[in-house]
Amino acid sequence: MRKLISTISKKEYPFESLNEFSDNGESLEVYVPKIEEAKIRDGKYLWERFRDFLPFQFFDSNCSLGEGNTPLIPAGRKLQEVTGLKNLWIKNEAQNPTGSFKDRGSLTTIFMAKEMRERFTATVSTGNMGHSISAYGARAGIKVIVFLPEFVPQEKLLSMAVHGAIIVKVKAEDYSAMKKRVLELTNKYNLRIVTGNNPIRVEGYKLEAFEMFEQMEGNVPDYIAVPTSACGHIRGIFKGYRELFQAGLTKKLPKMVVVQAKNNSPIVKAIKMGYDHIIPFKNFHTIAEAITSGDPPGGDEIIHKAKNFGWLAEDVEEKEIVEAQKILAKSGFFVEPSSATVLHAVKKLRDAGKIKDEEMVVLVLTGSGLKQFEALKGFKLDIFESDTEKIDKDLNYIMEKINDEKGKNRKE
Ligand SMILES: *Cc1c(COP(=O)(O)O)cnc(C)c1O
Repeated sequence: MRKLISTISKKEYPFESLNEFSDNGESLEVYVPKIEEAKIRDGKYLWERFRDFLPFQFFDSNCSLGEGNTPLIPAGRKLQEVTGLKNLWIKNEAQNPTGSFKDRGSLTTIFMAKEMRERFTATVSTGNMGHSISAYGARAGIKVIVFLPEFVPQEKLLSMAVHGAIIVKVKAEDYSAMKKRVLELTNKYNLRIVTGNNPIRVEGYKLEAFEMFEQMEGNVPDYIAVPTSACGHIRGIFKGYRELFQAGLTKKLPKMVVVQAKNNSPIVKAIKMGYDHIIPFKNFHTIAEAITSGDPPGGDEIIHKAKNFGWLAEDVEEKEIVEAQKILAKSGFFVEPSSATVLHAVKKLRDAGKIKDEEMVVLVLTGSGLKQFEALKGFKLDIFESDTEKIDKDLNYIMEKINDEKGKNRKE
């Protein structure tokens, strides 16, 4: 029977439980019965083809906004040169309906709400998750309440409210403190509050692994680099690969690369120091707004897995994040700063000899840059103010400048 299991001490809980964590604070994961016998079926949607791997009884394409089907493409020469990695790939999750991978978990959150006959659902979010579940709730006719920290950019807040979600901005010492306070209210109001490390969301993130498995025609990458905060995404991708392995469909597991901003690296720092528990961060600032869990509940699981499965971990400085965002943008990928962290993380791991030049590495670009324009303040952009009189002169200047640059490139 389907159930929830705590990820380190293996305690069991009912599948329907409203609580996202075990009594001792560990993250929970869904146990799917008979995974060894699971097969890939025919079907139009990913969740139809992989339904043997999913715990849900309710599936309805009317709840979908067309999430997934995101490109997995070669990173290209420029990014290969920057990182020194020859077999580098991009999984562009920014191309989901609301601009981040969160849509995959929102779909399964809605499946669960429908199956449990819940009329509303709630979340605590720095932005992307709130935006995503607001859109999916609107699509499925489920009321959404989003609890937000004060510092959320206006673009992200409005993108939730516009779908009809109820927004509650909460003043708190920091994000983790606020999240803890909100989660305490779960049982009092009998309200399923789905946060980033929720086991039901993780079932949606699993589908990203299944999709890459199909896109790579059964091959498994050596490394998958994922910007990590609440930890739902990274463990979802890995759970997908683990289940493919258990079902006998693959012969190896990828190694995950846990990536965090140096200013807030509770997991990466613990892994590097060889600790078993996360090191909580407080009163930090990072431009990587989507990865600001300073004290992620259930985060110890990631440290545990890193040890058992040989995962890597790397942190990146603020200036590296800004530089990476620029380099990615100049390569055609407009992502938010949090997503850009992965570029310098794998570069540093390669420079340190931990990742070999020929190994196959996937960078997961988690979210679109369109929701965080203020991150672009320090960018040098070519913008000309012209008018119908001046345009001739301006264009003359622009063409000369481009030709000069071309000449320079050729000489180099
Ligand atoms: C949510 C989010 C993350 C972090 O994912 P977790 O599942 O919380 O670890 C990273 N990048 C972006 C763009 C996000 O929205």
